[in-house]
Amino acid sequence: MKWAMVSTGDIDQNFEFTYETYRDLLEQLRSRGYQFRKFDDRLSEKEIILRHDVDWSPAKALRMGQVEQEYDVTATYFFMLSNPLYNVFSESVLKIIEKLQAMGHEIGLHFSSHQYWDEETTPPKESLEDRVQSEINILETRIEGLSSAVSFHMPPDWVFGEVFDSFVNTYNGYCFDDLEYIADSRQRWRSEPPFADGYPDRAQILVHPGSWGDKDASFGERIERDIEAKFDELREQFESAYRVNFNSA
Ligand SMILES: [Zn+2]
Repeated sequence: MKWAMVSTGDIDQNFEFTYETYRDLLEQLRSRGYQFRKFDDRLSEKEIILRHDVDWSPAKALRMGQVEQEYDVTATYFFMLSNPLYNVFSESVLKIIEKLQAMGHEIGLHFSSHQYWDEETTPPKESLEDRVQSEINILETRIEGLSSAVSFHMPPDWVFGEVFDSFVNTYNGYCFDDLEYIADSRQRWRSEPPFADGYPDRAQILVHPGSWGDKDASFGERIERDIEAKFDELREQFESAYRVNFNSA
């Protein structure tokens, strides 16, 4: 547990984005008696909502879910419907979702407003809720028991503090301001390790599965490795779908 002892302010070279560190982190929280809750819950002291936005790697989401299961920890995994890097309705991703649910994790919609409205536009609430609802309806054709919460991908300013009738916004006043909000976005825990200033009463913790791996790597390196993994996956898919063999080419 070297990373939490480093004071904030300095760049912490010790914090590594590895499953080993993640295990360490879960163990710390478990040994301090934290319980893990869902977005519908109002948290009591020493309770945490653990959230994962699946931006590009469902396989890594599964890996993270398995690590959490070792510590009897449950989380909510948010998947995108229209992500160019994975297809939530593909057989392999649906299987991953099924496995996560079987471990007790929740699944929710990771909604990208950017494909409907540009940066400068604040959509009318009703249009936004319609878009969100239509994506939820589509997900529900294949995924049972979706979380009532929706997490916004690269959240625009107008999302913060907003309450919606039809879903729980993970950036509403309760989840984002009342609870302590602790996020690993773009691996910022290298410079500001979580809990360096003490452990929260209650918190929402956001962890992006894509940023983590067996061995440490910077955000850029991680993406490069995941691009390689994606190429391998594509090669296999082409081979099995079209019976071509790239090795003999
Ligand atoms: Zn995202």
